[in-house]
This record gives sequence, structure tokens and C-alpha cells, in this order.
Amino acid sequence: MRTDGVHREAEYARRRTDGSVECELCDRGCVISPGRTGFCGGRRNVDGRMVPETYARAASVALDPMEKKPLYHFYPGSTVLSLGTYGCNLDCSFCQNWQISHPQNPGGMRLVDLAPEQMIVKIRDNSHRNCVGAAFTYAEPLIWYEYVLDSSQLLQEEGLRSVLVTNGHIRSAPWKRLLRYVDACNIDVKGFNPDFYRSECAGDLDVVRRNVESAVSAGVHVEVTTLLVPDGNDDLGEIRDMAAWLAGLDPELPLHLSRYFPHRRMRRPPTPVETITAARDVAREKLRHVYVGNVMVQDASDTFCAGCGERLMSRSAFRVRTVNLSDGRCRRCGHPLNAVLCGV
Ligand code: SF4
Repeated sequence: MRTDGVHREAEYARRRTDGSVECELCDRGCVISPGRTGFCGGRRNVDGRMVPETYARAASVALDPMEKKPLYHFYPGSTVLSLGTYGCNLDCSFCQNWQISHPQNPGGMRLVDLAPEQMIVKIRDNSHRNCVGAAFTYAEPLIWYEYVLDSSQLLQEEGLRSVLVTNGHIRSAPWKRLLRYVDACNIDVKGFNPDFYRSECAGDLDVVRRNVESAVSAGVHVEVTTLLVPDGNDDLGEIRDMAAWLAGLDPELPLHLSRYFPHRRMRRPPTPVETITAARDVAREKLRHVYVGNVMVQDASDTFCAGCGERLMSRSAFRVRTVNLSDGRCRRCGHPLNAVLCGV
């Protein structure tokens, strides 16, 4: 299905007799009239055909530390070519990336053409910086579906890694198909309360739960991030329930609890540090690896052995130092670390 140029027809789109197109990529199920785009802004009806108009067009391209995604247990210490375009199929009132997720004037954005083959060249050019592949991130990669799918297939053929940083809102069939070519995901679980998901994000907790579970069952390396919004999704009972659900999938699955700052429509003050540390302590009752982000807390981003508590990796400003890890195991007790490792 890969194309040689930068154009491609959308998949998961059903043409209707009235000239509109129904998008079947996510559960929003937009019915799009000619000339219009769907809710996410990236898929347009052009003369009765669905066109992913951001295919191979990136709003942002950068070489990032893997820890910045954040992925702490997947090639720690490596870098990854990070790409994103504009658009998102959720509508979070507190979106921290709203300038590219929900741009006011997408037509005025400067986009860079980057065909999948050109992306591979950029990764190879950065191999001396320990670049292991590409991360589809910044805005929502799932609405960039065709490009992410084609690129991930090519990355796999080239022996490179494909990473998604996603809200997990996609239908089952396209998700399972994409997972065959994806090595790691950081999935944003925006809370563990269906009402919060609906009212503040226009999303659906059940969809993201199902897709986290299918990614874990598919053998993809999964880490989860939750941005804690004060008086929104910071109830400790809900954090405990979320941690219990994740622990049921894998008690060593890494969870990142991140501090919110006022953005977009949400004007509440930043999450108190005590809220973050209390949530971390509750989550640690169930999960072995719970990290905090966007906040300075001692040892908050270090990795400790799930067997004996020994420090295995320390992190500072996205730099990783191996302390007591040897061949993927704790030097003190021999417990294996749930991580995909290289060069640490
Ligand atoms: S992917 Fe975009 S266009 Fe398709 S249903 Fe979802 S929001 Fe609508």
C-alpha cells in the first residue's frame, strides 16, 4: 500500500451516494460533506473521496531523547526522530499541545514534506546519536493513520523502531492492523472516570481501556501517561482503580503521572506537587514503576528494582545513567527489569 509520492487515499472511509464520506477510523464516525474536514481536521472530503491531507506533511520534526516521549523502559538513553502533524480527534479542555492539536488556522501552518523514505534517511543520518527509529507524537498520530501505517511498515522492514504517543481513540480493526508494525506506545489515559473523559475530553474511557489491553496482548511495549488535573481526575480512589486495572495487565507496566499547567480553555492553577506525590504513592500500591513528570521531585524519574528496591537507572534532564543493572537484571537480586534495553 505504500506510495512513492506524498499523496494517498484514506482508508477506513465509506463513500455515500449523496457525495459525503463516512470516516470509520475512530468512533466519532464523522460524515463529511464535499470540501469539509472531519472533527480532527486532518481528513477531507475531496470530490466524494476521503483524502488524508496531512499525509507525509509534518508540522514538527525533531530528534528527541526517548525519555521525553515519555518512554523510560524502551531503549533508555537512545534518541528517536519525533514527528507530528496537526489535528486531534479529542477535545481536551486542558490540552497542553493545543497549538498543533487544534490550530486556529491549519492552512497557515508551515508543514514539511517528509515521505516515509525520507524519514528513514533522516533516522540513518542520526544513527551516530543512537537514533533507533521514529516516534509519531506531538498532536494525535492516529488521525495521521495512513502515514503512520506506511512509515511503520517501512521502519519494520529497515530493522528500525516505530513508537506512538497517542490518546488511543481508534476503532479496533485499524488499531490491531497498525499494532503489527509498532514496537512501543505511550498511551494517554486521561483519567479513570467516564464522566471526566466525556465532559473534559469528548472521549470514551472504554475505548482507551480496550486499546491499551489489545496493545499489551499484541506484545507491544506499553507505558501509560496520565496528566493530573486538579479537581478533575485526581481522585485517589480513581487513581487506585486505574493502577489496579493496569497491574492486572502487567504489574511492571510503567505509569507516568504528569503535572498539569493551565492551557487552552482550562484556567485552574497547576496541579499541587502534593497531589502528584500522593497519587504516585497510591499507584505504587499496585504498580512497580510509577514516575512523575513536569515537576521536580527527588528520585521521581529513577527506576528501581521491582524485586528488591535497588536503584537501577537514574535520570536527570532526560539523561540516563545505569547504576545497578547488568544484562537487563538487578545486580543485587537478579530480578529482570521489564524493559527493552540498548546502550545503557
Ligand atoms: S478520524 Fe477524524 S474524521 Fe475520522 S471519525 Fe475520527 S475525528 Fe472524524
